[in-house]
Amino acid sequence: MIPFPGKVNVDVTDEMVRQGYNATHMFRVAEEFFTSLGLIEMPKEFWEGSMIVKPDDRDVVCHAAAWDFYNRKDFRIRQCTKVTMDDFFTVHHEMGHIQYFLQYKNQPVSFRGGANPGFHEAIGDVIFLSVSTPKHLHTINLLKSETSDPETDINFLLNMALQKIALLPFGYLIDLWRWGVFREKTPPERYTADWWYLRTKYQGICPPIRRTEEQFDPGAKFHIPNNTPYIRYFVSYILQFQLHEKLCEAANHTGPLHTCDIYRSKEAGALLKKILEPGSSRPWTELLQETIGTNKIDASSLMKYFDPVIRWLEKQNVNETLGWPDFMWLPPVPEDYPENIGD
Ligand SMILES: [Zn+2]
Repeated sequence: MIPFPGKVNVDVTDEMVRQGYNATHMFRVAEEFFTSLGLIEMPKEFWEGSMIVKPDDRDVVCHAAAWDFYNRKDFRIRQCTKVTMDDFFTVHHEMGHIQYFLQYKNQPVSFRGGANPGFHEAIGDVIFLSVSTPKHLHTINLLKSETSDPETDINFLLNMALQKIALLPFGYLIDLWRWGVFREKTPPERYTADWWYLRTKYQGICPPIRRTEEQFDPGAKFHIPNNTPYIRYFVSYILQFQLHEKLCEAANHTGPLHTCDIYRSKEAGALLKKILEPGSSRPWTELLQETIGTNKIDASSLMKYFDPVIRWLEKQNVNETLGWPDFMWLPPVPEDYPENIGD
């Protein structure tokens, strides 16, 4: 999938392994980014109480999570960290939750939450938008060269798009399906059929073999059996680019948005602090208006960030048929099939 394989490899997993990175080092490097902005360091209790490698003496849930113990002292991450760039992202994601916990810890208990759940999911991701730039990876010695040419940019942006853009239809359909279940538009005898209807409709994917109601495929996604709402990730993946753009402005970044690294910018840190400290004590629309000058979630920053790769893809796809039929593989649609399951 690398458009220009001769150019810089923007996945630094191999380099992390070569340099002997381990879980603790990954967490320390992430922490240092937060403190470089003037934000709060991880407290003693965090390092003592967190589980950041998979223990070999017992079974644990390995799905990464961050926990606020609501005593203003104890904040922990659980992660079975592997030395990969993917997990390096997850470390920042989870530490974003902890940073939020720390920033609002002096609020009354009922206000110790995200301005909305999408905000909570966005914080660490915003940080990683800076960390993953070739410029920053060079700064922290994970990339040899910092060469910024159009082809390296496309390698970088396609990789980012496969993570960020590809989540949007998925992040949307998980709760469309669940809301359908709650409203009984999707009864138990259509759990898997409706799941694949939405997966095909929004993501354009289908299973490699025929699925039936014997299987319950939605249960393979952690957040379904764990009963964790999912639309927050859809919100986060749009909001994080809005926040990134404003933090970059605060950091006096010049040049294309995807090249911005807010590392060591106290101004960006101060703005982020303003967003985090109130927790959920203010309506998120007001908070957003006061901090970044809009009260709407909108995708224009995301579009700006990906503009070079969107234009590149338009050229690549010039002779392709775009899109896919809604029911490219499903068995015949039942008479009483809802027009729009999520509606
Ligand atoms: Zn999260």
